[in-house]
Amino acid sequence: MVGVIVSDSEKELLIFLVEKGVERLEPSITPEGIKYNNIDQFENWRETISLLNSLEEREYLTGEDYDRAIICPSCDSPHVYSRYACPTDRSIFIKKIILLRHEPDGYSGELENFEQKGRLVCPKCGKDLGSAHDKETWGPNLKEIGYSFECEHNGHRFERPLVVHYCPLCGSTFDYRTARYVPLKAYTLSQKTYDMVKNTADTEKLIKPIIDFLYQNELQIQYGFEIKGVSGSTHQFDLAATIGPSLLLIDYSFGDSQELVALLGKKLDIPGAEAALIDFFDNEELLNLGKVYNIPIIDTGKKNWITTLQNVIEKMKQVPVEKKETPRRRLWERRR
Ligand SMILES: [Zn+2]
Ligand SMILES: [Zn+2]
Ligand SMILES: [Zn+2]
Repeated sequence: MVGVIVSDSEKELLIFLVEKGVERLEPSITPEGIKYNNIDQFENWRETISLLNSLEEREYLTGEDYDRAIICPSCDSPHVYSRYACPTDRSIFIKKIILLRHEPDGYSGELENFEQKGRLVCPKCGKDLGSAHDKETWGPNLKEIGYSFECEHNGHRFERPLVVHYCPLCGSTFDYRTARYVPLKAYTLSQKTYDMVKNTADTEKLIKPIIDFLYQNELQIQYGFEIKGVSGSTHQFDLAATIGPSLLLIDYSFGDSQELVALLGKKLDIPGAEAALIDFFDNEELLNLGKVYNIPIIDTGKKNWITTLQNVIEKMKQVPVEKKETPRRRLWERRR
């Protein structure tokens, strides 16, 4: 397959979720940031969110509007508390005043005026009307008729307080004008993810004999290999194997000759590297084309695949170890 559609870390995450049987990820706001269930062990929540976003863009996840978070404009933390404040001087030291009326005698006043040792007593008729702290105990004649707010320091009276946010992480106070109000998404794994994970598992099974053979011959292996060509562009390979200074670049193919053409193009940009195509599809035409392009086709369905691979490895082993260091060292010694 040309190019890596998902990076190793993305693939790892998706495989982890599928294997764990997680179908859906939901966000929650915690003191440590926005965390998603089942993957809250990932340290950096911002990176996790951008990872999830980018997987959604490529349809490995289906996003769904789920919640909103107030984000501190100074430090980006979503763990924010709210306070009420006086609209005149922005003081948060305000109190809510509840207005009550005792219906039989019409006495109206603030709850505070009724309060006596935890009980509510009508200041006009002196009747006990219930507990000051439990509305359930109030008699049917005691009515709440309204409320207002009072600024405790400066006595300002108002009906609607300002809502100000406080970030305990950096200590800043802000309101709706500067706050970032961001959508939080829930994600569901898409069919594409299940297919990808299955393909990965299948591919791993298919290439296992090849991998084993490479290891037996003491080659080092790297999946999802990236290398910069002489043209300056970066090329991606499904697999790379190295021994000494020699590099073998491998792509997988499901019988598609385009894979071979692409591999040839990439190989030409990386002088000195060997290339081989692993074909899972048993394509005869590809075998012939491989001879023309001088790229061995390794098809584990064919008996001779070991010989083909062995030849490549022999060729790699013949490359002498470059003596890059020698002249430099000589100069150094001479100077001393
Ligand atoms: Zn903050
Ligand atoms: Zn009364
Ligand atoms: Zn005030």
